[in-house]
Amino acid sequence: MVTLSDKLNGVWINFVHVFQKNPLKSLSYTVASSILVYLITPSIFNLVFRKSVSNERSERKDKYTTGLVNTSTECYANSSVQVLASLSNFTIYLNKVISIFELELKIEKVEKDAKEAFDTYLYKVIPVHYALCQLLADLQELIDRPRERSVSNFIRILEASIHKRITGGQQDANELTQIVLEVLQNELESLKKYVNRMELSIEVPRFPFEGKLASYLSCLNCGQTSIPNISTFNILPIQTPQEYSAELEEIIYGNQIDQITDYSCLVCQTNAILKNEKTNGHKGNTTDEHEIVKYLEDVLPVLRINEELDSKTLNYIKYYNKYGMKSGNIKSTIIKKNSIIETPKILMIHLSRSIYNGMVAVRNSCRVRFEEKMSIERQTTDEKNENLKIELVDYQLQSIIKHTGTHNSGHYQCYRRKPNLKRNITTKEIINFSPVISPVISSSSLQNSKKDNRKLKSINKYPFWKISDTKINESTLDNVTDKQKSVYILFYEMIT
Ligand SMILES: [Zn+2]
Repeated sequence: MVTLSDKLNGVWINFVHVFQKNPLKSLSYTVASSILVYLITPSIFNLVFRKSVSNERSERKDKYTTGLVNTSTECYANSSVQVLASLSNFTIYLNKVISIFELELKIEKVEKDAKEAFDTYLYKVIPVHYALCQLLADLQELIDRPRERSVSNFIRILEASIHKRITGGQQDANELTQIVLEVLQNELESLKKYVNRMELSIEVPRFPFEGKLASYLSCLNCGQTSIPNISTFNILPIQTPQEYSAELEEIIYGNQIDQITDYSCLVCQTNAILKNEKTNGHKGNTTDEHEIVKYLEDVLPVLRINEELDSKTLNYIKYYNKYGMKSGNIKSTIIKKNSIIETPKILMIHLSRSIYNGMVAVRNSCRVRFEEKMSIERQTTDEKNENLKIELVDYQLQSIIKHTGTHNSGHYQCYRRKPNLKRNITTKEIINFSPVISPVISSSSLQNSKKDNRKLKSINKYPFWKISDTKINESTLDNVTDKQKSVYILFYEMIT
């Protein structure tokens, strides 16, 4: 009896055979057997793919980059890691973290066995930083023929770090990145403690994804604002509107503003109470009530709509019910506004595309228009949180992760910006002006004066790579910004 897997094996062996003999003939063959080929697992497909391209050497250093194998359903992890390789500020950050240990080695002049113990220690304190550095160094290396690596070792170390299995779960690129960033931040905290304990005079770098949001409430009735609530973020979560299309910048600002009705505004209520008291001549007030009214008259000009008053005063306002006026009946409409007060070096934007239609989640295919350059509003305040000012901070698109398919199943791919490669006019040498993972600072790019180098023409034409696991294609900018329906996560870097 011939089993299905026998049939499949037969198909792919024939497929390779035909492909090697006559590439043109294989085209019609794949069409005929397309259903079976579709059933072949990715690893077998990779074998076929590898056989067909492994000898393609390129004269250009920017044609290929290292792909990541997909043995089961790892496309979400592959895309999540690939995009990180294009983020200069992340590379600079990782190099700084690793160099803290390198630096200390030089200060202490430790012996070889001590160095080994130290490496073990490094591995213990910041294992995920360490594993990520190794993987990103591979992805950033300039190559002239296709090659592939695997995320499995990195995922294993990540799983060991959080004591939880990641594979086989939701398999969402956003959730995975969230876990990676949280683990890195926890390791950074351990590193800070280590530096303090060892009394090292080393500055621990800031986490490049971290930004700060302030949320303000502002009352439409009395015009007063609230004391801001400050929170930090690594990923800017954006609810994609249920519309045919929308502009990314507009969605970001739209998400920052929310209207709330029936809000008990402390200022509106106090205003009404004081007016009511004045009209009725403070009749029948106890000494306590007299004191509270006097106090409220004093603080009213500087009162915030969510002021933390003492419970006695607060209860007086809340339960006030005199001369036919009940403070509880006074409701106001307020605007809730989230403002970025600290812009991150790397702005990661997650477009939430889930819509719950009662029972199940479906995909929101809103066409989100985005550009290569984007300005983000940063709100600055003085110490008293007054004198609000808006500054514009410029960002450039570095990579995107796209998701195609349905809400529950589909495929992740990414577009990753190529490094800034230039050719020296006289020596013809190719120089990488983008930072790469390396504990030692490379001086070659610093020695070259900028005017002697020309950006590679092929990078001007194709500034991105389209990466689908091990499959690498060069891509124009238009091809990236075209992905309005499938764009899922965007990575912008601050232009300095
Ligand atoms: Zn108000």
